[in-house]
Amino acid sequence: MWRELAPVGRVRTGGYRRQPFTSAERETVAWFRQECAARDLTVEEDPYGNLVAWWRPEGAAGDAVLTGSHLDSVVEGGGYDGPLGVVSALAAVDALRERGHVPAVPLGIGVFVEEEGSRFGIACLGSRLATGSMSWESARELRDRDGVAFGDVVAGGARSTLVEGVGSFVELHVEQGRDLVHREVPVGVATMIWPHGRYRFDFRGEANHAGTTRMGDRRDPMLTFAGTALEAARIALETGDRATFGRLEVSPNGTNAVPERVTAWLDARAGSEEALRSVVSQIGSSASEQATGHGTSVDVTAESESPEVRFEEALTAEVSRRSDGGSWPAIATMAGHDAGVLSAAGIPTAMLFVRNPTGISHAPAEYAAPEDCLAGVEALADSLQRLTR
Ligand SMILES: [Zn+2]
Repeated sequence: MWRELAPVGRVRTGGYRRQPFTSAERETVAWFRQECAARDLTVEEDPYGNLVAWWRPEGAAGDAVLTGSHLDSVVEGGGYDGPLGVVSALAAVDALRERGHVPAVPLGIGVFVEEEGSRFGIACLGSRLATGSMSWESARELRDRDGVAFGDVVAGGARSTLVEGVGSFVELHVEQGRDLVHREVPVGVATMIWPHGRYRFDFRGEANHAGTTRMGDRRDPMLTFAGTALEAARIALETGDRATFGRLEVSPNGTNAVPERVTAWLDARAGSEEALRSVVSQIGSSASEQATGHGTSVDVTAESESPEVRFEEALTAEVSRRSDGGSWPAIATMAGHDAGVLSAAGIPTAMLFVRNPTGISHAPAEYAAPEDCLAGVEALADSLQRLTR
């Protein structure tokens, strides 16, 4: 499966561009459908492009167990964030069949669209729509950088019924840090997801000539942005939170012009919702203060906020059980996942993580060794076997 997926959407840097509803991402979806057909899994699709492949043996009834993840990537992302959960789910179905296990309840493999928010700006857009935590009315007008609306690339409209009847969700994911490297184990379970949000900072000043405008006469929003980015890093370093400006738009974006407008996006995460509010408000205040000094202005808009997620204890305990009687270690995660959205929607949810030797994610160096991937498949298959007995 990895051999087939590896070249899809890979660019010169070795990273992946699998933005939702682009040809590369659609190719991964076609690949998924093929793998499901080869396993006699029935694929259902909702009006937003989310998929669930069902294994429904005769007589299987009751609350379904869902696993899976996503196939889209960030711009120039790694190969494992998302696909590892999908590949492992398919491999776990194979393992269960080899063991002669027949699920007593329906078992599904989900693929949620636009998990990364790399095209339409909202992370976990697919799972938010699937659970009804975001409405079609607000999603349809979301636009990508070229002005294409989400409503133009999906059928939309009707409510999704894809996760109705799902009683639990187990998502396997590549680790996005080095916790498991330090613990020297291939697999861990997540206890919680840090609350996080995306905030747009609109800095406005006055466009002018880079040569004739004296330094003291400028109203340069780039300076306000730069000062804000430095302050954000200083504040987050002090509090132990995370604050990142990773995306920037400059207008007019000319080498010889003082810019008129700088738009920057802050990604902020913290150990509690109170801490998140505090770090964002400190960064906002610092931006306003600096704007006053520079003769510029700044407006801050929260584009998306995700609350703290505590995974369900009983399910997490079940998923952390090792076949040798031990248990996989519990770790916290600072990254958002569809699992967090399903959990917030009231579906008992747990997450398995597979060791990533580089600790790097959302970049080409993201990796999981084959033997660790197999340990992940075993752990997932063991969990699914117990949950579908
Ligand atoms: Zn992911």
